[in-house]
Amino acid sequence: MVDVKVHEVGTRDGLQSVADFVPTAVKQAWIAKEFAAGVGEIEVCSFVPVKLIPQFADAGEVVAHALGLEGLTVAALVPNLKGAERALQLGVHKINYVISVSESHNQANVRRSTEESAVDFERIVAQCREAPPRGRPIVVGGLSTAMGCTIEGKVAEERVRALALRLVAAGADELILADTVGYGDPAAVRRLFGAVKSDVGDVPITAHFHDTRGLGLANVVAALDVGVRAFDASLAGLGGCPYAPGASGNICTEDLVFLLESMGLKTGIDLERLIAVRTMVCANLGDQPYHGTIAQAGLPKGFRGAVAA
Ligand code: ZN
Repeated sequence: MVDVKVHEVGTRDGLQSVADFVPTAVKQAWIAKEFAAGVGEIEVCSFVPVKLIPQFADAGEVVAHALGLEGLTVAALVPNLKGAERALQLGVHKINYVISVSESHNQANVRRSTEESAVDFERIVAQCREAPPRGRPIVVGGLSTAMGCTIEGKVAEERVRALALRLVAAGADELILADTVGYGDPAAVRRLFGAVKSDVGDVPITAHFHDTRGLGLANVVAALDVGVRAFDASLAGLGGCPYAPGASGNICTEDLVFLLESMGLKTGIDLERLIAVRTMVCANLGDQPYHGTIAQAGLPKGFRGAVAA
């Protein structure tokens, strides 16, 4: 058993900002090696229209390969009903449906209102419930821009709480609260995650932090304080924000694992093997903005991670 779940999202959140098409075999090797290093859940792709993000043109092959890795939870991001139908057809284990809490961001992202996106979520849940029990995916309600938005600035906490409750009422099995643009700070994280957790009871919540302004890992510690036990992260911190050139993307998976293991929280991940996957991925992806310190500095002498007592 692990104390904290680490979900890799670099293969989706990271790759979506890599302009050149990454060969399918490289994506598959990344997923297989990271699973072998102990990462139990990977968001392997996004079911967006290929003309919008050509990087995911091979989503079908990537999913099929990942589903062959016994024990891996295969997640995919879906922006709409059509994407969910495709995910359902291919048999992913988890459908991560995303709605922006910020109305303007949702319009910019998926060209419809937050309300329309919420209604679509109800349809997705209904479709998934029709699937035979063994092929029924976990349906996750993802709330992006939950801590602020580059268009609207501040996003009201009440709005996040209301939307979280709405998605749970619609049948969300789990939630993701995402600080998409890195506006969150530890005090705000404690407040928001604490409030939503008390609102939704035992519905699991994953925290999705970006390190755009350097507060990513501090926000992780704050979320841990209020009982969050699942985090998204991207290998080598791959990814970024189109509105902030040079800014880093998701928190870095290796650094997150180092933080958690240093604090005595078991992740089930072999850090040295994970760093080797990073090396492989960076070698194949070439010139990209990579982040993270532990791969560069090396593990402290004698570091053993969170060893079972
Ligand atoms: Zn993200």
